[in-house]
Amino acid sequence: MTDEYGFDTRAVRAGQVRTHEGEHSEAIFPTSSYVFESAAQAAARFAGDEPGNIYSRFTNPTVRTFQDRLASLEEAESCVATSSGMAAILSTCMGLLKAGDHIVSSRAIFGSTTVLFNKYLAPFGVETSFVSQTDIGEWEQAIKPNTKLLFIETPSNPLTEIADIKALADLAHSKGCLLVVDNCFCTPALQQPLKLGADVVIHSGTKYIDGQGRCMGGAVVGNKDIVGEQVFGFLRTAGPTLSPFNAWVHLKGLETLSLRMKAHSANALELATWLESQSSVERVFYPGLASHPQHELAKQQQTGFGGVLAFEVKGGKKAAWSVVDNTQLISITANLGDTKSTITHPATTTHGRLTPEQRADAGIGDGMLRIAVGLEDIEDLKADLAKGL
Ligand SMILES: *Cc1c(COP(=O)(O)O)cnc(C)c1O
Repeated sequence: MTDEYGFDTRAVRAGQVRTHEGEHSEAIFPTSSYVFESAAQAAARFAGDEPGNIYSRFTNPTVRTFQDRLASLEEAESCVATSSGMAAILSTCMGLLKAGDHIVSSRAIFGSTTVLFNKYLAPFGVETSFVSQTDIGEWEQAIKPNTKLLFIETPSNPLTEIADIKALADLAHSKGCLLVVDNCFCTPALQQPLKLGADVVIHSGTKYIDGQGRCMGGAVVGNKDIVGEQVFGFLRTAGPTLSPFNAWVHLKGLETLSLRMKAHSANALELATWLESQSSVERVFYPGLASHPQHELAKQQQTGFGGVLAFEVKGGKKAAWSVVDNTQLISITANLGDTKSTITHPATTTHGRLTPEQRADAGIGDGMLRIAVGLEDIEDLKADLAKGL
């Protein structure tokens, strides 16, 4: 359902297979195994001679509907759903890498991804070099003969730095590597990395795809060989499979994704603009602002600027905590991608385990706050922040 229909139509309808009951909304199939008509059919399924379900660690109809719908939205051949966003990143690495391989990654990636690379992949002989999100020269220098993957997340969290997907895809391909893009912050509603040349797209469905903070999930998207064979091969063996119920929540989330991402983006742009005019605010980080260093690049590769912004208040940690503690509406939680707005103080939460020097290198000041802007009335959000500012 890729060429024929527009994005919003595919978000609502792609991947649905109606059963003989004629249900209008997609069905949930809570079953761990499937029944065969005969010994011969069982043998043919196991041998791979006949397509069809065997066991839900491998395939499940509800999970397949979610996968087909997300593949259609990213305009990809294949999508493999996983139990979380981190399971998607782990499955990609396990499916594509072996001992002796090397990853070049942006430094500005999700904290657990850094830990996965440094603490859990390194002992198996996969080494990672970390480079600047925005300086292509650093990437070029870091690539070695054994480099297999380049890994980015754009916009980054919390500084919203933009990586140039097309330039990094071209660089990756000129060196025989694959480019993997964590597209969690934009979703295919705002950014389609495969169209810009990326090879693999990662999703934490937990965030905007669910969109209402209900359940965990993830996905890997790309071509048939890389995702449909290699990543799926690891997943069906090792088992970080998405549950049918979570797949159902996420496939229903896809139906409103494009509307929600537009609304998150509109609210975030207005809040960012308002914050920039506040005398107690030192600086605002949001790709939709003309003051953002990669505003032009963001306009080229994204169709909206997303729901996450960061800002630095004057007065360091004390002033930042006062803004957090004076909110009554905005939730104090590190999650993002929810209809409910959330606020965090990165220096003492998500980035609290870094040394002060590492935090300074990463550009995370003591006065910095991150807001994942939800879908509440924008005037209520401004009023909630105005108290502490
Ligand atoms: C949350 C997040 C992940 C991990 O997803 P989980 O579903 O929590 O495992 C990966 N990348 C980014 C950018 C995230 O925000």
